[in-house]
Amino acid sequence: MSPHTAWCAADHRCGLGEHRGAEIVVDLARHGRAVVWRTRTDNGREYAEVRLWVALAPHETRARRQLLAMLTGLRVLLGRVALAARPAPRPHR
Ligand SMILES: [Zn+2]
Repeated sequence: MSPHTAWCAADHRCGLGEHRGAEIVVDLARHGRAVVWRTRTDNGREYAEVRLWVALAPHETRARRQLLAMLTGLRVLLGRVALAARPAPRPHR
């Protein structure tokens, strides 16, 4: 396995062919929670792993509407993250 990265937790989270950073938690009390880990595989590819919990309404129609909103939001999020990988524009002089 490759040496630990600067952001790697370098503990039990690391192994099985990947390095893994400490978890980052985004918590919206009673509504949802997301946990994010930065990881690097042995082939050098890095990615963010996200586990997401969303409280769904007990009413089926509302729960489905929530799921639709979540999936739409995830598509927007993935697009924004992809765009953020582009080089920053050069300042005008
Ligand atoms: Zn590591």
